[in-house]
Amino acid sequence: MKIVMLGAPGAGKGTQAKMIAAEYGIPHISTGDIFRANIKEGTELGVKAKAYMDQGLLVPDSLTLELIMDRFTKDDCANGYVLDGFPRTIAQAEALTASLKEQGDALDYAIDVDVPDESIVNRMSGRRACIACGGTYHIVFNPPKKEGICDLCGGELTIRKDDVPETVQKRLNVYHEQTQPLIDYYNGEGILRTVDGTQEVAEVFESIKAFLNA
Ligand code: ADP
Ligand code: ADP
Ligand code: ZN
Repeated sequence: MKIVMLGAPGAGKGTQAKMIAAEYGIPHISTGDIFRANIKEGTELGVKAKAYMDQGLLVPDSLTLELIMDRFTKDDCANGYVLDGFPRTIAQAEALTASLKEQGDALDYAIDVDVPDESIVNRMSGRRACIACGGTYHIVFNPPKKEGICDLCGGELTIRKDDVPETVQKRLNVYHEQTQPLIDYYNGEGILRTVDGTQEVAEVFESIKAFLNA
């Protein structure tokens, strides 16, 4: 199964993508996590990406596509994947469609996790992330068992640099301008499914499973 997660920054794409990955035995591929891992390791890609990410801007398509196309060649992608944070522009979506088409393949679903902008700012201010393993928490809605510590790997939880309110607003603008048009794009392809992302985490997941098991 090949799935794309759509939705504003902080809509809950990552939270749901991890649950989908566990349920269906496919890898969760987050371009944001891959960029952050590269920044942490100080790679050339990381240095380039950081300049854009810190400002709340998108990393250029050429860099992003190179990274994701390489990721697709890994063995664990044989049975599909759930993509979180990619594609984010029409150019990226078209490149993905074309690359799959070359192999006689196509995406199965694009799931839009729909959350209004007003709720996003709240969610982002409470988000805590583990850079070591990509674990994501919320101080109120999804707290870790031990404050400041990742349940999954024991790593230290941090506030992402781009989750400060000013940058969140900028990322929302970038989302509306560059990423939201993908909703129409995938609707046109007949694979769009929209879920109400303001529900509780477990309820959102039940709605998604209903689509995927249909
Ligand atoms: P969120 O899910 O909260 O929006 P992500 O972790 O997906 O955050 O992305 C963080 C940042 O990484 C983005 O603001 C952008 O700078 C960069 N990024 C991630 N994925 C892409 C992509 N597909 N294209 C361009 N930039 C990306
Ligand atoms: P995205 O990947 O779309 O940027 P995340 O999955 O990282 O979003 O979620 C953003 C923040 O909101 C995190 O702190 C997460 O724990 C929290 N969150 C995710 N889904 C929900 C939900 N349905 N209700 C309340 N909080 C949520
Ligand atoms: Zn962790």
